Amino acid sequence: MKKIIVAIDGFSGCGKSSTAKAVAKNLGYAYVDSGAMYRAVTLYFLDNYVSEGNPKAVTKALGDIDIEFRLSAEQPPRNETYLNGLNVEDDIRTMRVSQHVSEVSKLPEVRRFLVAQQQKMGKKKGIVMDGRDIGTVVFPQAELKIFMRAELMERAQRRQAELLANEEVATLDEIAANLRDRDRIDSTRTESPLRQASDAVELDTTYLTFEEQVDVIVRLAYSKILQEDV
Ligand code: C5P
Repeated sequence: MKKIIVAIDGFSGCGKSSTAKAVAKNLGYAYVDSGAMYRAVTLYFLDNYVSEGNPKAVTKALGDIDIEFRLSAEQPPRNETYLNGLNVEDDIRTMRVSQHVSEVSKLPEVRRFLVAQQQKMGKKKGIVMDGRDIGTVVFPQAELKIFMRAELMERAQRRQAELLANEEVATLDEIAANLRDRDRIDSTRTESPLRQASDAVELDTTYLTFEEQVDVIVRLAYSKILQEDV
């Protein structure tokens, strides 16, 4: 069977990552969380006092950043993000990083740096990647593009549960404000703004169970794979 690229974009906190991960597992494909890469760069900038307004410092910092994904030893294995050899999977999910990531993601140098790595990862196809510009900029030729959305308070509740699992307590209002802010910054930036690709399938997950949203995408993927095979 031929392999395809599945690009999943959408607003913050729609469950793109967990859905994309399950879709990849089902198809036997690699999964890449592009948001984790923007988060890792943001964590580096915060920890090393790199100012977003200083292009020289930004370029220098990017030269010192190495991001990889590794599978954990536990069963089932977790896909974990490493920054310069250190496991930062939990650190990049904190509110501290969420509050700065969209400003860092606006920078053209940062986008160029990460998009080049993401395109390399998809060279052999057989990949599911989620983010904001996957169907429009990273893989405009992707065979299947999904654009996910869900109502704000539903997204905030899902995110609150994820933070609690990570032992971080945040109010629903605080989380909803962060999601709203990131959506605004992500959609209005000049460099690859968040927008639905004209050939993307729109999926509103407000009233769908997790299993249902995975199932819809897997079915669409198989229909593309079989179509591509003829
Ligand atoms: O997917 P996640 O919510 O973890 O992404 C965090 C942030 O990273 C987004 O709010 C956005 O600012 C940025 N991002 C991006 N382009 C991507 C993925 C994420 O700008 N492809």
